[in-house]
Amino acid sequence: MGTITTLRCISCERAFSQHEIEYHCPTCGPRRGTLEVLYDYDGLKQTLSRDTFGGLRDERTMWRYLPLLPIEDRRFIQPLRVGWTPVHPFPALAAEYGLADLYIKDDGQNPTASYKDRASALVVIKAQELKRKVVACASTGNTASSLAGFAAATDLDPIIFVPKAAPEAKVAQLLVYGAKVFVVVGPYDVTYDLATEAVETFGWYSRSDGSNPYIIEGKKTAAFELAEQLEWALPDIVLVSVGDGSVISSICKGFDELLTLGLIERAPQVVGVQAAGSAPIAAAFEGYTGGEVSFADIEAQTIADSICVGKPRDIIKAVKYVAKNNGWYITVTDEEIVAAIALMARRTGVFPEPAGAAPFAGLIKLVEEGKLSGMRVAVMVTGNGLKDIANAQKTVGPPIVIEPSLAAVKEHL
Ligand SMILES: [Zn+2]
Repeated sequence: MGTITTLRCISCERAFSQHEIEYHCPTCGPRRGTLEVLYDYDGLKQTLSRDTFGGLRDERTMWRYLPLLPIEDRRFIQPLRVGWTPVHPFPALAAEYGLADLYIKDDGQNPTASYKDRASALVVIKAQELKRKVVACASTGNTASSLAGFAAATDLDPIIFVPKAAPEAKVAQLLVYGAKVFVVVGPYDVTYDLATEAVETFGWYSRSDGSNPYIIEGKKTAAFELAEQLEWALPDIVLVSVGDGSVISSICKGFDELLTLGLIERAPQVVGVQAAGSAPIAAAFEGYTGGEVSFADIEAQTIADSICVGKPRDIIKAVKYVAKNNGWYITVTDEEIVAAIALMARRTGVFPEPAGAAPFAGLIKLVEEGKLSGMRVAVMVTGNGLKDIANAQKTVGPPIVIEPSLAAVKEHL
């Protein structure tokens, strides 16, 4: 299990001990003062090798990376199989797009069907280690269902705040897992502020993206997996959708830790894909020249509910980490996202929710611009398509309804 040396403020770089502070640097405040979890990398370098992880646990889950995770008591690890999601190769499609390789890592196959399970699994453990009773979050939907799912078999009480626009399937998932659910009449950004106020007022443990430093620790395991699953021959480019900025920050941190530990020599360039109507991080990145990050909040609008975020909480890391990684940001329109849902499903068999299709839309765009020619590319799918049937239906026509006769079948062939 990972030995944490410090929690460091992403803006002023002040270092804290892990028991001194919970969510953010007191000087820089929330958002600007989010914390980085740092480990004893020199010590880890002596003990870790590429062969370490496979031998740690029999099952293939994200818990094979325990030496790089902030867990003190493994008794709290849930039996649900989280992480080690498949990486599918699509050689024919790669050739068609002029790529050397194309991979899809399908995080829709996690227990509650999204990438967010990696973080919730870990935060639920931290909450129990810290003897907290209530875990709470604001969420566009996936964070919520994952928190509810991972808290279900524990003594923790999950309290969830979702915006009115959260898809029905996601809200149903929450209620089935037994969470207390507040559907807030307002957008995600307002919902987030209310949840934060409630967390502070009632002393709950927060799992809202961009609040708790351990969230990114769980999420970074996808980067480790990609390295191991591709036998350490990492792709040139990794495409991922971006809302609050936590997932992309985690992927960059994961690759950066592998570099620091000498386990890889080169990190893939990470490309963040935002919806055009919800792209404040892409805008902040555009104007970033080092030093302090300037940003402006917006009123977000996109059908991709998981990344409909106008006031991203992990924006500082999402800008700084991607700059350090030599990655970049692009935007795609809602029309491009909707088209990508059906295209991806038909050409790969992987059915993504709109936010999961956004990086595929980004891939198509970059291919058309000739920017990926001859490259090895991986697309991260962050959520399963069954989470948002209404938007999936927009991409296809109605089915053929017939009388129960062979003649009727024949008529429509
Ligand atoms: Zn600070």
